[in-house]
Amino acid sequence: MRQSELFTKTKKEVPKDEVSVNAQLLIKAGFIDKLAAGIYSFLPLGLRVLKKIENIIREEMNTIGGQEILMPALHPKDLWEKTGRWDMMDDLYKIKDVSGKELALGPTHEEIIVPLVQKYIQSYKDIPFYAYQIQTKFRMELRSKSGLLRGREFSMKDLYSFHLDEKDLEDYYEKAKNSYVNIFNKIGLGKITHLTFASGGSFSKYSHEFQTLSEAGEDLIHICKKCSVAINEEIKGETKECPECGGDDFEEKKAIEVGNIFKLKDKFSKPFDLKVKNEKGEEVTLIMGCYGLGPSRVMGTIVEVYNDDKGMIWPQSVAPYQVHLIEIKNQKSKIKNEAEDIYNKLQSEGIEVLYDDRDISAGEKFADADLIGIPYRVVVSDKSLKVGGVEVKKRDSEKSEIVKTSELVSKIT
Ligand code: ATP
Ligand code: MG
Repeated sequence: MRQSELFTKTKKEVPKDEVSVNAQLLIKAGFIDKLAAGIYSFLPLGLRVLKKIENIIREEMNTIGGQEILMPALHPKDLWEKTGRWDMMDDLYKIKDVSGKELALGPTHEEIIVPLVQKYIQSYKDIPFYAYQIQTKFRMELRSKSGLLRGREFSMKDLYSFHLDEKDLEDYYEKAKNSYVNIFNKIGLGKITHLTFASGGSFSKYSHEFQTLSEAGEDLIHICKKCSVAINEEIKGETKECPECGGDDFEEKKAIEVGNIFKLKDKFSKPFDLKVKNEKGEEVTLIMGCYGLGPSRVMGTIVEVYNDDKGMIWPQSVAPYQVHLIEIKNQKSKIKNEAEDIYNKLQSEGIEVLYDDRDISAGEKFADADLIGIPYRVVVSDKSLKVGGVEVKKRDSEKSEIVKTSELVSKIT
Protein backbone atom coordinates (compact mmCIF):
# COMPACT_ATOMS: atom_id res chain seq x y z
CA MET A 1 0.00 0.00 0.00
CA ARG A 2 1.31 3.42 -0.93
CA GLN A 3 0.95 5.71 2.01
CA SER A 4 0.28 8.62 -0.34
CA GLU A 5 -2.94 6.83 -1.32
CA LEU A 6 -4.08 5.90 2.17
CA PHE A 7 -7.08 8.12 2.85
CA THR A 8 -6.48 8.14 6.58
CA LYS A 9 -3.79 10.31 8.13
CA THR A 10 -2.05 10.24 11.45
CA LYS A 11 -3.36 12.83 13.91
CA LYS A 12 -1.92 14.92 16.69
CA GLU A 13 -5.20 15.26 18.56
CA VAL A 14 -7.66 12.70 19.90
CA PRO A 15 -11.18 13.30 21.27
CA LYS A 16 -10.91 14.82 24.76
CA ASP A 17 -12.99 12.15 26.44
CA GLU A 18 -10.87 9.36 25.01
CA VAL A 19 -8.74 8.45 28.01
CA SER A 20 -7.52 4.92 27.30
CA VAL A 21 -4.08 4.29 25.83
CA ASN A 22 -5.42 1.92 23.18
CA ALA A 23 -8.02 4.36 21.85
CA GLN A 24 -5.59 7.28 21.90
CA LEU A 25 -2.89 5.46 19.95
CA LEU A 26 -5.26 3.72 17.53
CA ILE A 27 -7.07 6.99 16.75
CA LYS A 28 -3.84 8.99 16.41
CA ALA A 29 -2.40 6.41 14.04
CA GLY A 30 -5.61 6.28 11.97
CA PHE A 31 -6.49 2.65 12.77
CA ILE A 32 -9.93 3.44 14.17
CA ASP A 33 -12.31 6.39 14.38
CA LYS A 34 -14.66 7.12 17.22
CA LEU A 35 -18.33 7.61 16.33
CA ALA A 36 -19.65 7.66 19.91
CA ALA A 37 -18.69 6.12 23.26
CA GLY A 38 -17.83 2.47 22.66
CA ILE A 39 -18.63 2.71 18.93
CA TYR A 40 -15.78 2.77 16.42
CA SER A 41 -15.12 2.50 12.69
CA PHE A 42 -12.24 0.28 11.65
CA LEU A 43 -10.11 2.06 9.06
CA PRO A 44 -7.80 0.37 6.52
CA LEU A 45 -4.84 -0.20 8.88
CA GLY A 46 -7.04 -1.16 11.82
CA LEU A 47 -9.21 -3.51 9.80
CA ARG A 48 -6.11 -5.40 8.64
CA VAL A 49 -5.16 -6.03 12.26
CA LEU A 50 -8.69 -7.07 13.24
CA LYS A 51 -8.91 -9.48 10.30
CA LYS A 52 -5.57 -11.04 11.17
CA ILE A 53 -6.67 -11.65 14.73
CA GLU A 54 -9.96 -13.07 13.48
CA ASN A 55 -8.17 -15.37 11.05
CA ILE A 56 -5.86 -16.78 13.71
CA ILE A 57 -8.95 -17.53 15.79
CA ARG A 58 -10.82 -18.94 12.79
CA GLU A 59 -7.99 -21.35 11.97
CA GLU A 60 -7.93 -22.70 15.51
CA MET A 61 -11.70 -23.05 15.63
CA ASN A 62 -11.63 -25.01 12.38
CA THR A 63 -8.89 -27.24 13.83
CA ILE A 64 -11.12 -28.27 16.73
CA GLY A 65 -13.96 -29.08 14.35
CA GLY A 66 -15.87 -25.80 14.53
CA GLN A 67 -18.22 -25.18 11.58
CA GLU A 68 -18.41 -21.48 10.76
CA ILE A 69 -21.82 -19.85 10.46
CA LEU A 70 -23.13 -16.28 10.67
CA MET A 71 -26.22 -15.53 12.71
CA PRO A 72 -28.31 -12.33 12.66
CA ALA A 73 -27.86 -9.35 14.96
CA LEU A 74 -31.61 -8.64 15.12
CA HIS A 75 -33.38 -11.04 17.48
CA PRO A 76 -37.16 -11.42 17.97
CA LYS A 77 -38.23 -10.79 21.57
CA ASP A 78 -39.99 -14.14 22.11
CA LEU A 79 -36.71 -16.07 21.95
CA TRP A 80 -35.26 -13.92 24.71
CA GLU A 81 -38.42 -14.30 26.78
CA LYS A 82 -38.17 -18.05 26.57
CA THR A 83 -34.93 -18.03 28.60
CA GLY A 84 -36.01 -15.17 30.84
CA ARG A 85 -33.17 -13.00 29.65
CA TRP A 86 -35.36 -10.33 28.00
CA ASP A 87 -36.01 -8.97 31.51
CA MET A 88 -32.87 -10.20 33.26
CA MET A 89 -30.07 -8.90 31.10
CA ASP A 90 -29.40 -5.24 31.93
CA ASP A 91 -27.14 -4.62 28.97
CA LEU A 92 -29.62 -5.83 26.31
CA TYR A 93 -30.42 -3.26 23.62
CA LYS A 94 -34.15 -3.38 22.92
CA ILE A 95 -35.74 -1.81 19.89
CA LYS A 96 -39.23 -1.48 18.49
CA ASP A 97 -40.20 -1.36 14.83
CA VAL A 98 -43.11 0.71 13.42
CA SER A 99 -45.57 -2.13 13.88
CA GLY A 100 -44.71 -2.19 17.56
CA LYS A 101 -42.81 -5.47 17.31
CA GLU A 102 -39.95 -5.66 19.79
CA LEU A 103 -36.50 -6.97 19.00
CA ALA A 104 -33.12 -7.21 20.68
CA LEU A 105 -29.72 -6.39 19.22
CA GLY A 106 -27.82 -9.59 19.92
CA PRO A 107 -25.35 -9.45 22.83
CA THR A 108 -24.68 -13.24 22.54
CA HIS A 109 -26.39 -16.02 20.59
CA GLU A 110 -27.55 -18.93 22.76
CA GLU A 111 -31.17 -17.89 22.13
CA ILE A 112 -30.58 -18.06 18.39
CA ILE A 113 -28.37 -21.10 17.96
CA VAL A 114 -30.45 -23.48 20.08
CA PRO A 115 -33.67 -23.14 18.02
CA LEU A 116 -31.53 -23.15 14.88
CA VAL A 117 -29.89 -26.44 15.82
CA GLN A 118 -33.27 -27.87 16.73
CA LYS A 119 -34.30 -27.66 13.06
CA TYR A 120 -31.50 -30.02 12.00
CA ILE A 121 -30.59 -32.37 14.84
CA GLN A 122 -32.70 -35.48 15.24
CA SER A 123 -30.71 -38.39 16.58
CA TYR A 124 -27.67 -39.16 18.71
CA LYS A 125 -25.82 -39.80 15.47
CA ASP A 126 -25.84 -36.05 14.78
CA ILE A 127 -24.04 -35.37 18.08
CA PRO A 128 -21.52 -34.04 19.03
CA PHE A 129 -21.01 -31.04 16.83
CA TYR A 130 -19.65 -27.53 17.13
CA ALA A 131 -20.60 -24.27 15.41
CA TYR A 132 -19.10 -20.83 15.71
CA GLN A 133 -19.28 -17.37 14.25
CA ILE A 134 -17.26 -14.18 14.26
CA GLN A 135 -19.92 -11.52 14.49
CA THR A 136 -20.82 -8.07 15.78
CA LYS A 137 -22.34 -7.98 19.26
CA PHE A 138 -24.25 -5.16 20.96
CA ARG A 139 -24.23 -4.48 24.69
CA MET A 140 -25.42 -1.43 26.57
CA GLU A 141 -22.14 -1.00 28.42
CA LEU A 142 -22.34 1.88 30.86
CA ARG A 143 -18.61 2.16 31.29
CA SER A 144 -17.46 2.41 27.70
CA LYS A 145 -14.42 4.54 28.45
CA SER A 146 -11.81 1.95 27.55
CA GLY A 147 -11.62 2.18 23.78
CA LEU A 148 -11.72 -1.23 22.11
CA LEU A 149 -11.61 -2.97 25.47
CA ARG A 150 -15.28 -2.24 26.12
CA GLY A 151 -17.35 -1.52 23.05
CA ARG A 152 -21.09 -1.09 22.91
CA GLU A 153 -20.75 -2.59 19.44
CA PHE A 154 -17.85 -5.05 19.21
CA SER A 155 -16.53 -8.15 17.54
CA MET A 156 -16.91 -11.55 19.20
CA LYS A 157 -16.10 -15.09 18.23
CA ASP A 158 -18.66 -17.35 19.84
CA LEU A 159 -18.45 -21.12 19.59
CA TYR A 160 -21.20 -23.44 20.84
CA SER A 161 -20.77 -27.18 21.41
CA PHE A 162 -23.51 -29.79 21.70
CA HIS A 163 -23.11 -33.09 23.56
CA LEU A 164 -25.00 -36.17 24.74
CA ASP A 165 -23.23 -36.49 28.08
CA GLU A 166 -20.99 -34.62 30.50
CA LYS A 167 -17.91 -36.69 29.72
CA ASP A 168 -18.08 -35.65 26.09
CA LEU A 169 -18.59 -31.99 27.06
CA GLU A 170 -15.65 -32.27 29.48
CA ASP A 171 -13.36 -33.66 26.74
CA TYR A 172 -14.29 -31.00 24.23
CA TYR A 173 -13.99 -28.26 26.83
CA GLU A 174 -10.37 -29.31 27.40
CA LYS A 175 -9.75 -29.23 23.66
CA ALA A 176 -11.21 -25.75 23.38
CA LYS A 177 -9.12 -24.59 26.33
CA ASN A 178 -5.96 -25.80 24.58
CA SER A 179 -6.98 -24.12 21.36
CA TYR A 180 -7.33 -20.82 23.25
CA VAL A 181 -3.77 -21.27 24.52
CA ASN A 182 -2.64 -21.73 20.90
CA ILE A 183 -4.56 -18.62 19.82
CA PHE A 184 -2.98 -16.36 22.44
CA ASN A 185 0.48 -17.77 21.67
CA LYS A 186 0.02 -17.07 17.96
CA ILE A 187 -1.30 -13.57 18.59
CA GLY A 188 1.75 -12.73 20.70
CA LEU A 189 -0.03 -12.54 24.07
CA GLY A 190 0.80 -16.06 25.25
CA LYS A 191 3.43 -15.19 27.85
CA ILE A 192 1.24 -12.65 29.65
CA THR A 193 -2.12 -14.41 29.35
CA HIS A 194 -3.19 -16.60 32.26
CA LEU A 195 -5.75 -19.35 32.33
CA THR A 196 -8.00 -18.20 35.18
CA PHE A 197 -10.63 -19.95 37.27
CA ALA A 198 -13.80 -17.86 37.43
CA SER A 199 -17.30 -18.33 38.71
CA GLY A 200 -19.25 -20.93 36.77
CA GLY A 201 -22.58 -19.30 37.49
CA SER A 202 -25.40 -21.58 38.57
CA PHE A 203 -24.55 -24.51 36.32
CA SER A 204 -20.94 -25.44 36.98
CA LYS A 205 -18.37 -24.92 39.73
CA TYR A 206 -15.97 -22.96 37.56
CA SER A 207 -15.72 -21.39 34.18
CA HIS A 208 -12.37 -20.39 32.74
CA GLU A 209 -11.24 -16.99 31.63
CA PHE A 210 -8.16 -15.99 29.73
CA GLN A 211 -6.73 -12.92 31.40
CA THR A 212 -3.96 -10.78 29.91
CA LEU A 213 -1.84 -8.86 32.41
CA SER A 214 -2.28 -5.11 32.00
CA GLU A 215 -2.67 -2.08 34.21
CA ALA A 216 -5.64 -1.16 32.00
CA GLY A 217 -7.45 -4.31 33.12
CA GLU A 218 -10.67 -4.13 35.14
CA ASP A 219 -10.15 -7.54 36.72
CA LEU A 220 -7.90 -8.54 39.58
CA ILE A 221 -6.44 -12.04 39.36
CA HIS A 222 -4.47 -14.14 41.83
CA ILE A 223 -1.72 -15.97 39.99
CA CYS A 224 -0.45 -19.22 41.50
CA LYS A 225 3.33 -18.92 41.78
CA LYS A 226 3.71 -22.67 41.30
CA CYS A 227 1.74 -23.33 38.08
CA SER A 228 0.88 -19.77 36.88
CA VAL A 229 -2.81 -20.58 36.57
CA ALA A 230 -4.88 -17.80 38.20
CA ILE A 231 -8.09 -17.34 40.17
CA ASN A 232 -10.34 -14.32 39.56
CA GLU A 233 -10.71 -12.06 42.62
CA GLU A 234 -14.54 -12.31 42.28
CA ILE A 235 -14.51 -15.94 43.12
CA LYS A 236 -11.53 -16.32 45.15
CA GLY A 237 -13.53 -16.03 48.40
CA GLU A 238 -12.26 -18.63 50.82
CA THR A 239 -10.26 -20.49 48.20
CA LYS A 240 -6.83 -21.01 49.75
CA GLU A 241 -5.40 -23.52 47.32
CA CYS A 242 -4.91 -23.35 43.58
CA PRO A 243 -7.65 -25.52 41.99
CA GLU A 244 -5.14 -26.52 39.33
CA CYS A 245 -2.08 -27.67 41.34
CA GLY A 246 -2.84 -27.17 45.03
CA GLY A 247 -0.25 -24.39 45.40
CA ASP A 248 -0.94 -21.78 48.09
CA ASP A 249 1.26 -18.83 47.17
CA PHE A 250 -0.36 -16.21 44.94
CA GLU A 251 0.53 -12.93 43.33
CA GLU A 252 -2.15 -10.30 42.60
CA LYS A 253 -2.21 -8.57 39.21
CA LYS A 254 -4.59 -6.48 37.14
CA ALA A 255 -5.72 -8.11 33.93
CA ILE A 256 -8.02 -7.84 30.91
CA GLU A 257 -10.45 -10.71 30.24
CA VAL A 258 -9.84 -11.61 26.62
CA GLY A 259 -11.72 -14.93 26.53
CA ASN A 260 -14.23 -16.89 28.57
CA ILE A 261 -15.30 -20.52 28.26
CA PHE A 262 -18.33 -22.00 29.99
CA LYS A 263 -20.02 -25.32 30.52
CA LEU A 264 -23.66 -24.35 30.00
CA LYS A 265 -24.95 -27.88 30.56
CA ASP A 266 -28.74 -27.73 29.90
CA LYS A 267 -29.26 -24.07 30.79
CA PHE A 268 -30.34 -23.17 27.24
CA SER A 269 -31.24 -26.55 25.77
CA LYS A 270 -33.90 -27.09 28.46
CA PRO A 271 -36.05 -23.97 27.89
CA PHE A 272 -36.04 -24.73 24.17
CA ASP A 273 -36.51 -28.46 24.77
CA LEU A 274 -33.55 -29.39 22.60
CA LYS A 275 -33.65 -33.19 22.64
CA VAL A 276 -32.53 -36.13 20.54
CA LYS A 277 -33.23 -39.86 20.69
CA ASN A 278 -30.37 -41.88 22.17
CA GLU A 279 -29.32 -45.39 21.08
CA LYS A 280 -32.14 -46.91 23.13
CA GLY A 281 -34.70 -44.64 21.51
CA GLU A 282 -35.12 -42.52 24.64
CA GLU A 283 -35.28 -38.74 24.44
CA VAL A 284 -32.35 -36.95 26.07
CA THR A 285 -31.78 -33.23 26.51
CA LEU A 286 -28.54 -32.08 24.92
CA ILE A 287 -25.92 -30.32 26.98
CA MET A 288 -23.81 -27.44 25.76
CA GLY A 289 -20.61 -25.50 26.14
CA CYS A 290 -19.97 -21.96 24.96
CA TYR A 291 -16.65 -20.35 24.19
CA GLY A 292 -16.29 -16.59 23.73
CA LEU A 293 -13.36 -14.50 22.60
CA GLY A 294 -13.35 -10.85 21.55
CA PRO A 295 -11.13 -9.97 18.56
CA SER A 296 -11.65 -6.21 18.97
CA ARG A 297 -10.90 -6.37 22.70
CA VAL A 298 -7.80 -8.46 21.89
CA MET A 299 -6.71 -5.73 19.46
CA GLY A 300 -7.09 -3.08 22.16
CA THR A 301 -5.25 -5.31 24.62
CA ILE A 302 -2.27 -5.72 22.31
CA VAL A 303 -1.97 -1.93 22.07
CA GLU A 304 -2.25 -1.57 25.86
CA VAL A 305 0.60 -3.99 26.49
CA TYR A 306 2.88 -3.34 23.53
CA ASN A 307 3.61 0.37 23.19
CA ASP A 308 6.19 2.98 24.14
CA ASP A 309 6.22 6.77 24.25
CA LYS A 310 6.42 6.90 20.44
CA GLY A 311 3.55 4.63 19.58
CA MET A 312 2.38 1.06 19.07
CA ILE A 313 4.57 -2.06 18.66
CA TRP A 314 2.67 -4.80 16.81
CA PRO A 315 3.61 -8.47 17.10
CA GLN A 316 4.48 -9.78 13.64
CA SER A 317 1.47 -12.11 13.37
CA VAL A 318 -1.12 -9.33 13.65
CA ALA A 319 0.75 -6.28 12.34
CA PRO A 320 -1.10 -4.44 9.54
CA TYR A 321 2.02 -4.79 7.36
CA GLN A 322 5.34 -6.51 7.94
CA VAL A 323 7.53 -3.76 6.50
CA HIS A 324 7.27 0.01 6.57
CA LEU A 325 9.36 1.10 3.61
CA ILE A 326 10.47 4.72 3.78
CA GLU A 327 12.08 6.67 0.99
CA ILE A 328 14.04 9.75 1.89
CA LYS A 329 14.30 11.92 -1.14
CA ASN A 330 16.97 14.25 -2.25
CA GLN A 331 16.55 16.47 -5.29
CA LYS A 332 18.86 14.74 -7.71
CA SER A 333 18.92 11.28 -6.29
CA LYS A 334 17.81 7.97 -7.72
CA ILE A 335 16.06 7.11 -4.47
CA LYS A 336 12.66 6.98 -6.11
CA ASN A 337 13.63 4.19 -8.48
CA GLU A 338 15.38 2.21 -5.77
CA ALA A 339 12.48 2.46 -3.38
CA GLU A 340 9.97 1.51 -6.08
CA ASP A 341 12.08 -1.53 -6.97
CA ILE A 342 12.27 -2.66 -3.37
CA TYR A 343 8.52 -2.12 -2.93
CA ASN A 344 7.77 -4.33 -5.93
CA LYS A 345 10.33 -6.94 -5.00
CA LEU A 346 9.08 -7.33 -1.42
CA GLN A 347 5.49 -7.60 -2.57
CA SER A 348 6.38 -10.20 -5.17
CA GLU A 349 7.90 -12.23 -2.30
CA GLY A 350 4.55 -12.08 -0.51
CA ILE A 351 5.72 -9.56 2.08
CA GLU A 352 3.15 -6.95 3.10
CA VAL A 353 4.57 -3.45 2.70
CA LEU A 354 3.36 -0.01 3.65
CA TYR A 355 5.41 2.28 1.41
CA ASP A 356 5.86 5.83 2.61
CA ASP A 357 6.18 7.60 -0.74
CA ARG A 358 4.79 10.92 0.54
CA ASP A 359 6.40 14.29 0.00
CA ILE A 360 7.03 15.09 3.63
CA SER A 361 10.10 15.36 5.82
CA ALA A 362 12.13 12.37 7.03
CA GLY A 363 11.34 13.34 10.62
CA GLU A 364 7.60 13.20 10.00
CA LYS A 365 7.95 9.83 8.29
CA PHE A 366 9.92 8.36 11.16
CA ALA A 367 7.46 9.68 13.73
CA ASP A 368 4.55 8.16 11.81
CA ALA A 369 6.40 4.84 11.45
CA ASP A 370 6.97 4.68 15.21
CA LEU A 371 3.34 5.57 15.90
CA ILE A 372 1.94 2.99 13.47
CA GLY A 373 4.28 0.34 14.87
CA ILE A 374 4.99 -1.99 11.93
CA PRO A 375 7.67 -4.59 12.94
CA TYR A 376 10.36 -3.66 10.36
CA ARG A 377 11.28 -0.16 9.20
CA VAL A 378 13.29 -0.16 5.99
CA VAL A 379 14.79 3.19 4.96
CA VAL A 380 16.14 3.93 1.49
CA SER A 381 18.21 7.09 1.36
CA ASP A 382 21.31 8.42 -0.38
CA LYS A 383 23.17 7.73 2.80
CA SER A 384 22.07 4.10 3.00
CA LEU A 385 22.79 3.46 -0.66
CA LYS A 386 26.24 4.99 -0.36
CA VAL A 387 27.14 2.41 2.26
CA GLY A 388 25.69 -0.40 0.24
CA GLY A 389 22.01 -0.90 0.87
CA VAL A 390 19.02 -0.06 3.01
CA GLU A 391 18.78 0.71 6.71
CA VAL A 392 16.72 -1.86 8.61
CA LYS A 393 15.39 -1.26 12.11
CA LYS A 394 13.03 -3.37 14.17
CA ARG A 395 10.32 -1.36 15.91
CA ASP A 396 11.19 -2.85 19.28
CA SER A 397 14.93 -2.28 18.98
CA GLU A 398 17.08 0.86 19.20
CA LYS A 399 19.67 -0.32 16.73
CA SER A 400 19.51 -0.25 12.98
CA GLU A 401 21.75 -1.98 10.48
CA ILE A 402 22.64 -1.59 6.83
CA VAL A 403 21.48 -4.56 4.80
CA LYS A 404 22.35 -5.21 1.15
CA THR A 405 19.26 -4.79 -0.98
CA SER A 406 19.79 -8.31 -2.33
CA GLU A 407 19.70 -9.69 1.23
CA LEU A 408 16.69 -7.73 2.45
CA VAL A 409 14.10 -10.44 1.88
CA SER A 410 15.99 -13.09 3.84
CA LYS A 411 16.67 -10.56 6.59
CA ILE A 412 13.02 -9.93 7.31
CA THR A 413 11.43 -13.33 6.75
P1 ATP B 1 -16.77 -8.37 30.89
O1 ATP B 1 -16.87 -9.00 32.24
O2 ATP B 1 -15.44 -7.79 30.61
O3 ATP B 1 -17.91 -7.46 30.60
P2 ATP B 1 -18.14 -10.59 29.79
O4 ATP B 1 -18.00 -11.61 30.87
O5 ATP B 1 -19.40 -9.82 29.72
O6 ATP B 1 -16.89 -9.58 29.85
P3 ATP B 1 -18.49 -12.56 27.76
O7 ATP B 1 -19.96 -12.40 27.74
O8 ATP B 1 -17.92 -13.79 28.33
O9 ATP B 1 -17.80 -11.27 28.41
O10 ATP B 1 -17.96 -12.35 26.27
C1 ATP B 1 -16.93 -13.13 25.68
C2 ATP B 1 -15.77 -12.25 25.24
O11 ATP B 1 -16.20 -11.15 24.46
C3 ATP B 1 -15.01 -11.62 26.39
O12 ATP B 1 -14.07 -12.52 26.91
C4 ATP B 1 -14.34 -10.45 25.70
O13 ATP B 1 -13.19 -10.86 25.00
C5 ATP B 1 -15.39 -10.02 24.69
N1 ATP B 1 -16.21 -8.91 25.18
C6 ATP B 1 -17.22 -8.94 26.08
N2 ATP B 1 -17.75 -7.72 26.25
C7 ATP B 1 -17.07 -6.89 25.43
C8 ATP B 1 -17.16 -5.51 25.13
N3 ATP B 1 -18.08 -4.74 25.73
N4 ATP B 1 -16.30 -4.98 24.22
C9 ATP B 1 -15.37 -5.74 23.62
N5 ATP B 1 -15.24 -7.07 23.85
C10 ATP B 1 -16.08 -7.64 24.73
MG1 MG C 1 -19.86 -7.85 30.22
